[in-house]
Amino acid sequence: MRAALSAVGLALTLAAAMLASAQAPTTREPNELGRVMILEYHKIDTPEARWTRTPDNFRRDLQRLWERGYRLVALNDYIDGKIALPAGTTPVILTLDDSSPGQFRYIQRGGDWVIDPECGIGILEAFAREHPGFGRAATFYVLPGANPPNRLFNQPDLVTRKLQYLVSQGYEIGNHSLWHAELGRYSEPVVREQLAGAQEWVQRHVPGYRFRSLALPLGSYPKELGWALSGEAKGMSYKHDAILMVAGGAAPSQHARNFDANRLPRIQAVERDLDYWITYFDRNPGERYVSDGDASTITVATGGAGKVGAVRTARVIERR
Ligand SMILES: [Zn+2]
Repeated sequence: MRAALSAVGLALTLAAAMLASAQAPTTREPNELGRVMILEYHKIDTPEARWTRTPDNFRRDLQRLWERGYRLVALNDYIDGKIALPAGTTPVILTLDDSSPGQFRYIQRGGDWVIDPECGIGILEAFAREHPGFGRAATFYVLPGANPPNRLFNQPDLVTRKLQYLVSQGYEIGNHSLWHAELGRYSEPVVREQLAGAQEWVQRHVPGYRFRSLALPLGSYPKELGWALSGEAKGMSYKHDAILMVAGGAAPSQHARNFDANRLPRIQAVERDLDYWITYFDRNPGERYVSDGDASTITVATGGAGKVGAVRTARVIERR
């Protein structure tokens, strides 16, 4: 009995220690050359499946990240090298592909349209309210010309309201082509129409809005990279500062010499891959990006200054 009680006591002590470490992330040494997880969600819905994360599991993902000192950062801030996080915390980026209904749904309540608390946006915003400092960023790679249910979240009368809400709240909308075209299979004019067409369609709802990144449908690059980077079709131009793949693991730090904005790897947010990477960084804390709390400096491990890329947005400091 005594042994059992002390085992309980030990478990409680460990739980308290884990909680304390979650609340005091400043104990992590800064390492701004560490890697960053860009998570890739598809459907938020039930039941859990290869391309579906349930609302409960999505909530649990956010909780796991929060407890380990991860904080949400906008993709565009990452590609600009402008990660402004408290010392000791680690950026994580959310991307949601294919504009399926469960990512952003309005429901009627007392005659008003409100955000469904069980959809992706609803879950994210409730979590952010309950965990000040976690952040609220996400990039939505939408499909304006897809068939239902993937056409712009599948509530046709509310599309303008949704896209304007996303932009007004600091979320990002990204290019995923008009209708999920596998770009490697098409000629230059078709590729350009797919990319410019998506831009044009989103501007019907959010005048003047410019995509800054492209997530390749099925990870398929067009025959020439330049077609994906910038161009125009039917009087609409497009320009992408970053191109995201569908897999590849954790991404390099934006400050790292091996950072390539045209080939950003992502981690598919399914149980197995998420678990692998969260555990990986638990076991290899030295490989994870940890902020120094000062956006004007890039703090790296001892001897790491040579691994910083040529284009520097801030002063480099080697940790002693
Ligand atoms: Zn997709």
